[in-house]
Amino acid sequence: MTRAFSGKTLVVASHNAGKVREIRELLAPFGIETVSAGDLGLPEPEETGDTFRANAELKALASAKASGKPSLADDSGLCVEALNGAPGIYSARWAGPNKDFAHAMRKVEDGLAGKTDRSGHFICALALAWPDGHAETVEGTIGGELVWPPRGQNGFGYDPMFRPEGHDVTFGELEPARKPAMSHRADAFRNLVEASSKN
Ligand code: IMP
Repeated sequence: MTRAFSGKTLVVASHNAGKVREIRELLAPFGIETVSAGDLGLPEPEETGDTFRANAELKALASAKASGKPSLADDSGLCVEALNGAPGIYSARWAGPNKDFAHAMRKVEDGLAGKTDRSGHFICALALAWPDGHAETVEGTIGGELVWPPRGQNGFGYDPMFRPEGHDVTFGELEPARKPAMSHRADAFRNLVEASSKN
């Protein structure tokens, strides 16, 4: 990592309330204030990259350039082994324009019909970008199993059908305070902090 963040305020370059909430919780212990791209009314760039990293970078750079402030973006998704990594970078798109995750989870389950391997993992790429066009990107992951039917009302997206390794409950059933500390987002965040301290 060639540049570390040393400011006080970061723009969280996301319009996804669930992600913004989790990122805010991860940043809070560092005394970093946040404002979201949604709060600033910034446009949502089209995710044209073909990797999580590329999409995280393009969102962070678009926000940094539009706001004039360092920005942190997350691109994440669910990769199901038996579906060759799908939905992957298309995780949000599987839910359609109405963001219907009951539908997206059903699509995953339909794909798993007749398969014995129900393993999957979430990936999170976090990109930190500055208005001058510089960006630093890291990744994090968490492995688990897809359960059916979905369980629990907490979290967002595919959380109710994802049971993280070593736990009996799904992310949807986990107490809200616990997921941000153990998720793929937390793993990526740890990698970001570690890379920044090596600067
Ligand atoms: P994007 O990063 O904006 O392309 O959206 C990622 C999509 O992946 C989200 O809309 C969710 O559907 C899914 N996703 C990412 N992280 C999580 C998570 O922590 N729990 C559940 N679903 C997630």
